[in-house]
Amino acid sequence: MAPDGRRNNPDTAVLTEGYRRDSATGARGAAVRARRGRVARDAGLSLSGCSIGNVIELDTPLRHLLPAKDAKRLGERPLELVTVADLLEHLPRRYHRRGELTNLADLVEGEVSTVHARVVRNESKTARTGRRYAVLTVTDGTAQMTVTYFNPARSPARRLSAGSVAVFSGKVDRFNQRLQMVNPETHPLEDDDGPGDDPDRWARALVPIYPATEQVNSPAIGRCVRVLLDTLGELPDPLPADLRARYRLVDLRKAYELVHQPESTGDVERAHRRLKWDEALTLQVILAQRRRAISAMATVARRGRPDGILAAFDGQLPFALTDGQRGVGATIAGELARPVPMHRLLMGEVGSGKTVVALRAMLAVVDAGGQAALLAPTETLAVQHHRGVRALLGGFGRAGELDETSPATKVALVTGSLGARAKREALAAAADGSAGLVIGTHALLHEGVAFRDLGLVVVDEQHRFGVEQRDALRARATDPPHVLVMTATPIPRTVAMTVFGDLEVSTLTELPAGRSPIGTFVVNGAEHPSWRGRIWGRIRDEVAAGHQAYVVCPRISTVAGGSADDEDLPEDEAEAGRPGFGDGTGSLAGVGVEELLPWLAEGPLAGLRVAALHGRLPADAKDAVMTRFAAGEVDVLVATTVIEVGVDVPNATVIAILDADRFGVSQLHQLRGRVGRGQAAGVCLLHTEVGGDTPATQRLANVAATTDGAELARLDLGQRREGDVLGASQSGRGRSVRLLELLKDERLILDAREEAGRVVDTDPDLSSHPALARRVLLALDDRPVEYLEKG
Ligand code: ADP
Ligand code: MG
Repeated sequence: MAPDGRRNNPDTAVLTEGYRRDSATGARGAAVRARRGRVARDAGLSLSGCSIGNVIELDTPLRHLLPAKDAKRLGERPLELVTVADLLEHLPRRYHRRGELTNLADLVEGEVSTVHARVVRNESKTARTGRRYAVLTVTDGTAQMTVTYFNPARSPARRLSAGSVAVFSGKVDRFNQRLQMVNPETHPLEDDDGPGDDPDRWARALVPIYPATEQVNSPAIGRCVRVLLDTLGELPDPLPADLRARYRLVDLRKAYELVHQPESTGDVERAHRRLKWDEALTLQVILAQRRRAISAMATVARRGRPDGILAAFDGQLPFALTDGQRGVGATIAGELARPVPMHRLLMGEVGSGKTVVALRAMLAVVDAGGQAALLAPTETLAVQHHRGVRALLGGFGRAGELDETSPATKVALVTGSLGARAKREALAAAADGSAGLVIGTHALLHEGVAFRDLGLVVVDEQHRFGVEQRDALRARATDPPHVLVMTATPIPRTVAMTVFGDLEVSTLTELPAGRSPIGTFVVNGAEHPSWRGRIWGRIRDEVAAGHQAYVVCPRISTVAGGSADDEDLPEDEAEAGRPGFGDGTGSLAGVGVEELLPWLAEGPLAGLRVAALHGRLPADAKDAVMTRFAAGEVDVLVATTVIEVGVDVPNATVIAILDADRFGVSQLHQLRGRVGRGQAAGVCLLHTEVGGDTPATQRLANVAATTDGAELARLDLGQRREGDVLGASQSGRGRSVRLLELLKDERLILDAREEAGRVVDTDPDLSSHPALARRVLLALDDRPVEYLEKG
């Protein structure tokens, strides 16, 4: 039976004037309330038949508690609410406040308003085009308004027969002398949304608006939640009682009541704070457990030698290390020398000199008798690293070659496109240990390359490297390697502590001396067609001054049938309708590398040495192009985002990014980092054919306004939904992080991290925290990975 009889007692139905807009008659309202009581009672009965006593677990199926029809619909896609927890965690997206609804008589044309009204007429009409539409006449007693729905078959009009009541939100306009809303957001209210036996409470309450579907609308979900809350007894609480007391958090059951049936926004806030704690604590417990497991691992300590390669290398570096490079280097050396695997994230602006830091760590490991691997996200970058590391090491990297200087080791390159013989040799050198340094792509890990004694793995450009891959590394050997991950994509502290929470973090904040500033300019071809030509003029000027240039296109070939090198490019929204490259308008929209190159070579850049680089070229061709560009034999490199990370040619001073609106903020920042790496000032031209004030043009303006990567990362995160950040919840179902906002909830996340550490220290397996343990298990199914996959 219903544990809370008060709210369901049909006998106490009171009708009042309080609900002046309600169309439901007293008789109907009472009937509904009676039905609700019955449902709850049925639920109680079926409960005793299926569950132990009165205990409902969060994973109890809804079909044991709700009428079969409701349970079935809730369980269907896309809602897929199957268990008690699913439904309770299906939180209102927002709330309507009854008292703040606008009277129809007070509506102002052109404003977005919300009204609560009764349907007087619902007519179906046919336009001259043959298209059908629905026209509703609605009233709230103060005035009438027309509500029009195009596509009536799929609109809420179907459910709004004369007499029904709904909340309509939308822009008010005037048509045929009458106020109207077209396709407003509509929330039908049903009879039992009425004032019930407590009109005051009803009038104050907020109406929850749930993410809903055609089949199950928001009020229907609200009704099911109510039944559930009425039926539920105590809920096992994942938050320890002492923690709740310390932070003044309501218990779980109360939180669900407050979030689903709030009387004030204060209720919602209290509930949200509590529910955020669940998310934050769960996440931090997982991370604390992970750190604990890592620190319990034993591995080989790698202590460098004063007479080793590192010392010799340091002695002949062509530049002085920055203080940051020195400091981080010391931290890393200290960690390598301990018999516990290091797991460190090294963040540093583009061009801050992370490679040297990594190389020095790798040399220390070689000096200690081990091997080190450097993993790059692309083959191009692996090849470049191989070349760069060999150049930096000089004779110290040429063991067995004529120009070996003692002490020395070998630097092997392992990539998928090596010739069979070269690959065999490289693999042999890794396996017998003669190659102290092995450079390759991430594939190196999966292809089971054998090492004699792998002591350190350096992962460059972490944002393509997720939690699972890090785990795979740790699981690799009996003596797991030390791990250093590097990224130029600044990661806000709270993100570092959540998504990368198993890593310690170091940051290189200063750039090496002598770096030049980069000026960034937006070239809007839609608004200023003549500016397009200035891109090529600027490139010609730079080349005339002895410098080099990049031109970046989002695609390999022009739109029709074009393919992107980067699968994460945004959708081609209205591509079809927009003018594009080669259509005679001069627009550069949609242009690809393959078409741009000949056009430039014969036109605006005639006479310059121009070459193409993209992912579809064979590996040796890519390699040859990069080598020629690095050697200054190519003036202008027309490329896709294959040059996004790591490419380091200090003589390149200008980068033009075409259709820049198609890239994300961090990606643009990375691309821009290809210039300004030498003595001369860098220039970045962000071209777009998107006019007006859109999110895309705003994004470009942001990138142009600052070169502070951390600031841009914040902007970027702010524009994305948190769910996307954690790679979950596209379907709205991701459980582990939904309310938590990584940027805004920093304080809470910090507290949760501390609390989680305390819990895990005293109770590593969570055996005395069963409810928390359960949430952790659930969340592990839905682990937050690949934070920056989308660049
Ligand atoms: P990133 O951090 O973006 O990976 P790199 O490691 O590629 O940067 O370094 C960029 C360039 O700066 C390289 O050419 C590198 O040799 C050079 N560099 C690194 N450290 C210093 C330093 N302390 N002084 C001068 N140049 C440096
Ligand atoms: Mg780099």
